Amino acid sequence: MAAAYPPSYYAASAKPFPRQPVLEGDLAADLVVVGGGYTGLSTALHAAERGLSVILLEARRIGWGASGRNGGQMIPGLRWGAKELVAALGEGRARELLLLANSAAGKVRGRIARHAIACDLRHGHFTAAVKPAHLDAMKRELEELDRLVGYPDGRIVEPGGVGEFVASPLYHGGFFDAGGGHLHPLNYALGLAEAALAAGVRVFEDSPVTALERGSKVVARTAGSTVTAAYAVLATDTEIGELDAAQGRMTMPVANYNVATAPLGAEQAAALLPANAAVADSKFVLNYYRLSADNRLIFGGGEKYTPAPPPDVAGFVRPYLERVFPQLAGVAITHAWGGMVGVSLNRLPRLGRDGNMLYAHGWSGHGVLLTTLAGELLADALAGEGRGFDLLASLPGRPFPGGPLLRHPLYVLGMAWFALKDRL
Ligand SMILES: Cc1cc2nc3c(=O)[nH]c(=O)nc-3n(C[C@H](O)[C@H](O)[C@H](O)COP(=O)(O)OP(=O)(O)OC[C@H]3O[C@@H](n4cnc5c(N)ncnc54)[C@H](O)[C@@H]3O)c2cc1C
Repeated sequence: MAAAYPPSYYAASAKPFPRQPVLEGDLAADLVVVGGGYTGLSTALHAAERGLSVILLEARRIGWGASGRNGGQMIPGLRWGAKELVAALGEGRARELLLLANSAAGKVRGRIARHAIACDLRHGHFTAAVKPAHLDAMKRELEELDRLVGYPDGRIVEPGGVGEFVASPLYHGGFFDAGGGHLHPLNYALGLAEAALAAGVRVFEDSPVTALERGSKVVARTAGSTVTAAYAVLATDTEIGELDAAQGRMTMPVANYNVATAPLGAEQAAALLPANAAVADSKFVLNYYRLSADNRLIFGGGEKYTPAPPPDVAGFVRPYLERVFPQLAGVAITHAWGGMVGVSLNRLPRLGRDGNMLYAHGWSGHGVLLTTLAGELLADALAGEGRGFDLLASLPGRPFPGGPLLRHPLYVLGMAWFALKDRL
């Protein structure tokens, strides 16, 4: 049956995008991409630009997964800071990795400009310190980042300056990154898909891949149809375990929820977030928020480690929103939705290669920027230019402990501990 987008503010404000056909028959290409989120779309687009014939198979709709439902926050860098990277990998590799990761924002802006993608792009990202100690850590981190790669986009905001970015009583300063920003996530995905179609990619929706057979060629099977290709790229993030059990053990789906308020009006919106930057706070289970183009507050907060969604998503998120913005008590919430964030054990992405199949997943809440870069690196690697791919693929990573039955309960325990630390 044809899939529909889950109801969200983004689905309600998506730009028109023609429904793509279901795969029928037996087709051939140089590359088959499985998954139509940012990772798959960026890979397909860049590979087609490099001259490969490309087929992209999406199980439901383009941007149906996290790419069409996320907070839209463009957060520069990796989840690990410069200090952690240097300690784990040494200065040389840390520097190379930071330069590569920091190039992601330029790639996204470049795509948006080149393909004229209307996705409400805005500039600036502010990380708000929930404790004075977090501000001290941000100062040390910026010093290290600047020393390693030079970072003119970053600036420390002392407690007295928080009001420049956010009207909340909770914060003790923060870190402003002019290289970050925010966008309408689904419209960015649909814009990438339009660009991919224009570059010659054949895109199929409602075409779940049920098996990937590997030999000298890869055969991707859907119900009754096949694509035979020299290479496959697996870009299914939280569902990667369905087609590759080993990679499935490296990424854990964690449910996360968002709401959109009714439009607040330009005056109230500007009073809440005067710089119109995206904001995320420094909690482990963080609150993150921004304004939409029509002046709604889009707010994400709280995580749930049990598979069932809360019966009332708006009611689940509201207390987090009202703690950050007491002045919005009782505000009308018009949309509430959730999605699965693919999280790796150490919060670093997993890129790799297994013969003629490449994969990339586990973005750990940093996927809006990194996936566009990663897609290009995957396509470059297929063309024999693997430097950037190899660098990201060399990041350390381990499977979640506990096997398929135990790993989720163990993870819940671990996360509950960190959530408790947030409250101390
Ligand atoms: C609520 C929420 C908020 C978030 N907020 C932010 C944020 O503010 N900033 C940020 O940087 N990141 C954020 N993220 C994370 C970010 O959205 C993801 O890292 C990113 O979208 C992952 O892109 P992807 O293409 O790898 O995966 P997805 O977008 O999940 O795409 C995978 C696609 O594969 C398809 N698929 C699955 N199985 C198959 C199959 N067998 N055959 C064919 N297709 C298949 C799915 O239908 C899906 O469309 C958030 C995520 C969520 C859920």
